[in-house]
Amino acid sequence: MLLPKKGNIPTPLDVQRKRLPIYQAKPQLLNQLRQLPCAILIGETGSGKTTQIPQYLYEAGIGRQGVIAITQPRRVAAISLAGRVAEETRTSLGKLVGYTVRFEDVTSSETKLKFMTDGMLLREAIGDPLMLRYTVVVLDEAHERTMHTDVLFGVVKTAQRRRRELNKVPLKVIVMSATMDVDLFSDYFNKSPVLYLEGRQHPIQIYYTKQPQSDYLQAALITIFQIHQEAPPSHDILVFMTGQEEIEALARTCRDISKHLPDGCGPMLVIALYASLPPAQQLRVFQPAPKGCRKVILSTNIAETSVTISGIKYVIDTGMVKSKRFNPDSGLEILAVQRVSKAQAWQRAGRAGREDSGLCYRLYTEDEFDKLIPMTVPEIQRCNLSGVILHLMALGIPDVLNFDFMSKPLPGAIQAAVVQLELLGALEKKEQQVTLTALGKKMASFPLEPRYAKAILLSPDFSCSEEVLGIVSLLSVDTVLYNPPARRDEVLAARRKFISSEGDHMTLLNIYRAFKKVSGNKEWCRENYVNSRNMGLVKAVQAQLREICLKLNMKLESCGSDTVSVRRCLAHAMFVNAAELQPDGSYVALDSHQSVAVHPSSVLFQAKPAYVVFNELLHTSRCYMRDLCLVDAEWLVDAAPEYFSRKLRHAKS
Ligand code: ADP
Ligand code: MG
Repeated sequence: MLLPKKGNIPTPLDVQRKRLPIYQAKPQLLNQLRQLPCAILIGETGSGKTTQIPQYLYEAGIGRQGVIAITQPRRVAAISLAGRVAEETRTSLGKLVGYTVRFEDVTSSETKLKFMTDGMLLREAIGDPLMLRYTVVVLDEAHERTMHTDVLFGVVKTAQRRRRELNKVPLKVIVMSATMDVDLFSDYFNKSPVLYLEGRQHPIQIYYTKQPQSDYLQAALITIFQIHQEAPPSHDILVFMTGQEEIEALARTCRDISKHLPDGCGPMLVIALYASLPPAQQLRVFQPAPKGCRKVILSTNIAETSVTISGIKYVIDTGMVKSKRFNPDSGLEILAVQRVSKAQAWQRAGRAGREDSGLCYRLYTEDEFDKLIPMTVPEIQRCNLSGVILHLMALGIPDVLNFDFMSKPLPGAIQAAVVQLELLGALEKKEQQVTLTALGKKMASFPLEPRYAKAILLSPDFSCSEEVLGIVSLLSVDTVLYNPPARRDEVLAARRKFISSEGDHMTLLNIYRAFKKVSGNKEWCRENYVNSRNMGLVKAVQAQLREICLKLNMKLESCGSDTVSVRRCLAHAMFVNAAELQPDGSYVALDSHQSVAVHPSSVLFQAKPAYVVFNELLHTSRCYMRDLCLVDAEWLVDAAPEYFSRKLRHAKS
């Protein structure tokens, strides 16, 4: 018998691909996608949309003249999906299949399927508003309604129309999602047809608590071990929680308890999953547990739709999520733990019924469920818009205040953003006309929040560009420090020598300088609890930011040990996030007059300086400032005299 040609032997991956629900619909889907300029594709998470659609299009020759872009709200999703599709197509990453995320580009001239964050595609549009290098844009995970995806809806819609008017190669737009407000999307995209993928959802039993739970972490812990004692070991558990810190803490508790279980209770493998986890550790969730051992995954909402894990029989839903909230009256954006929407709760429950019937334990009462909001509020309606407005202005959108948003931002939010950008000197307002200043144009050339771009652009005035570039790079990368809770004392001891009484920015800078001095020595990193991979990334980010500076003809100097210059520069860029110490020892944010506290993780936790600027606010039991820098009141007044002449007096009165 003749052996089949090597390329034709179906690999386990090929078999898996054909088993996906989407495979049945392939001919029909391709038929429709070939004809439609714009389509909305709805299908259960895990049905194969993200990994298969780009390959189907490519194989069928749709959009072959250019590149097919697939956007993802999350950086990790873009990277891991590109890896998966490269594997399925048996090509190496960066050739046919590649990815582009902020500060990292793994594509080449051969790349036809390009996974990217929504933020990156938006950034590219500044130089190419018609998106001419793309023939198809797939806006994936549309139900997440991230700010960047929402802005992209408008940008892509305009590009498509303009290309038609100018007789250019047409742009095909595919919007993909798990569940969403279908009519809203279809209406926005000129009544585009909605294609539904047949799901393969098994029945799921939902359980509620009888009483409201005051401590959802405790409730989760009890539920995990109840299931563990009763269910067969092959049934894995997925727990939805809110963030890294509580996930790591619960993981530790579970591991401790599981060591002391009565006979007859099998072992337990506890795995944490959150966005800032290094990719190699993230991949651990896909590996099956050893035989006889139960896998318990503690995850943020990342496992709601972005990644699909097999073997899950039980879902435990705390009903909580950490997300941003914005108050246009106060101008403050706050990261807070809050209740999920009904749509999110259903999405979470659905993770239990992927392969067989499943069970979902909701750690809240049915009454509480009934009171949840139906859909998650789009980010554009709960975030600070200054970055978006600056971006839209740089895109040359003529009337930014009336941009065609699918969901309108809150009244006042655009206005608040314009005021902030004016304060930063990026915009000018004459009568009702808003224009970008020369500084604003320069700010938009950095892939950074406006205030960080401003800090870099101001740094030559204080002769501290190297330092500010370092600090901004450190803030642009996921945490560079390891804080294993079990080794708290060792961590503190190792860190002491870097701590600056001037705050967290300067402390980070000290660590970064030491890292560079030892050329990133691995041993040094281990001893000092520094994440060497992320630190390496900081260096790469700094190099890229430096390149942008050089293009703008900036003079880059170092101020050496003169840390005052650095802090003055930060004060001039971050003055909207300033807080003042009150006689009773508390702090008040000067912009909103809201009471805030120093986060326990800050090196300034006990110091109580009179004035600080901070990076962000986190609302848990109280409203905490995170990442603080000590500043002088004079510098703040210098930075924005008019603004502070009102604020300082107000805060003191
Ligand atoms: P959808 O976009 O419809 O949610 P995907 O195309 O992302 O579906 O996933 C299809 C299947 O591919 C999933 O069932 C998942 O198990 C598998 N898969 C995706 N990424 C990976 C990965 N990195 N490793 C292993 N399996 C994966
Ligand atoms: Mg997907």
